[in-house]
Amino acid sequence: MYKKLMSSHKTCILVVDGSSVSREILSRILREELADSEIISCKSGAEAMVLLSERKVDLVTTALLLADMDGLALSRKIRDTFQHPFIPVVVVSGDADSRLLREGFEAGVTDYFDKSNGYKAFGKFIQGFLQRNSGLMGKILFIEDSRTAAAVLLKILAKNGLDVTHVRSAEKALAMIEDSLEKTGEETLSFDLVITDFYLEGAMTGGDLLHAIRAKYHLSQQELPVLVLTGSDDTGTQVEIFHAGGNDFVHKPIIEEILIARVRALLLIKHQFDALKKQAENMRWIAATDSLTGVRSKRYLVDNGEEFIRAPENQGVWAIIIDIDHFKSINDNLGHITGDHVLAELGEFLNSHFPEDMAVRFGGEEFCLLVKNCDRETILRRSEELREQIENLKPAGLEVRISLGVAGVEEHPDTNLTQLISLADKSLYFSKEAGRNRVSIYGPDGPEAYPATAETVRLQPSRQA
Ligand code: GH3
Ligand code: MG
Ligand code: MG
Ligand code: MG
Repeated sequence: MYKKLMSSHKTCILVVDGSSVSREILSRILREELADSEIISCKSGAEAMVLLSERKVDLVTTALLLADMDGLALSRKIRDTFQHPFIPVVVVSGDADSRLLREGFEAGVTDYFDKSNGYKAFGKFIQGFLQRNSGLMGKILFIEDSRTAAAVLLKILAKNGLDVTHVRSAEKALAMIEDSLEKTGEETLSFDLVITDFYLEGAMTGGDLLHAIRAKYHLSQQELPVLVLTGSDDTGTQVEIFHAGGNDFVHKPIIEEILIARVRALLLIKHQFDALKKQAENMRWIAATDSLTGVRSKRYLVDNGEEFIRAPENQGVWAIIIDIDHFKSINDNLGHITGDHVLAELGEFLNSHFPEDMAVRFGGEEFCLLVKNCDRETILRRSEELREQIENLKPAGLEVRISLGVAGVEEHPDTNLTQLISLADKSLYFSKEAGRNRVSIYGPDGPEAYPATAETVRLQPSRQA
């Protein structure tokens, strides 16, 4: 957020302090903390006013006591003289008492820094302040039918760095919202905030637009905040706006500071909503993923496996249980960390070779695959290929072998997920018993080895002999 603000111009901070020592220290701290910013300073209120009239300043910090006026008077003067744009004023004071808080608010002071926290904390405070207050970033859908009113508002929004799409009717706005919902699906809307005039050309009012946003598209006040522009004496409309799910309203004629304060508050809500949503998605991902191997967690299998094997589009699902042969000896001889590397590489391999299927960490050194759209021959061939590929994989530089057990709904149509996995597990056991490093399948008549491995081929004649 902060970066974007700075890309347009270098942030400039004006430090006002009567003491040359304080000025030096504060400026140095700010230069260290905000490497990309320009720090200028002066010793009096009068000098500050001159500097502010000459150039663009993004933030003023002032001592409470100055030789010619106090910090509150300076703040008041700044507010009275420079209507636009809104410049934050931070008072740096040793005693941020309640009088200062009360009177400072009236004087337009934006925030305080208590000097007793130390100069080091000052740098962090200003940095945090800029980050919190540069949050004026977002895409706005603006609906206004009057050209004059639109021009004024567009100018204000653009000046404050906002990205605005302007349309003249609620119908057009709805079409754009609908379009954006279709395009982005569940992910994110293309707009962060709607600002709409109440009375519009076309059949729909701003109230109708609001109603559609909330009731038709089910977009909450957090998901898509709506700010409505009304006439100042229009209390009936204002009540209606809240009933229809509007977040807030602003009177016409528009006062920049009021509009921007509302926009900032609503964008903050929206950005927080997005952040929470993302966090929830991350949490879901974490719960669904095994952290060591990157494949799905057992929890994910339990929650989604049954649906996966039942889904009509997943024709013929097979469960494959994979168990690493003599894995314990890797741990015992080379250490647990090497063992972990082997598991991680195996997980990565399974994910990349079965992207459309479901690869799961089933237990310690056991994995489970749910593979769809295969017949018996295909799944056996793929299982055997997988066994060979792992033999050649050399995870952590080691020769690693696996045993596999296969079972499919095609041959066991009445089984649920648990039963299918249990059959695959029985055939895995069969592979282990038969000497490991091989594939077995639990067919209609019980477990049977898939005879294509070299060892099986070798074993079978000797058995017959
Ligand atoms: P088999 O061929 O019969 O499967 O023998 P095995 O040694 O592979 O099987 P066993 O069940 O005796 O040992 C599995 C080992 O896997 C024991 C356990 O310490 C180890 N293990 C389980 N989870 C992890 C893990 O997350 N990391 C590491 N490094 N080892 C693990
Ligand atoms: Mg209008
Ligand atoms: Mg095991
Ligand atoms: Mg094992």
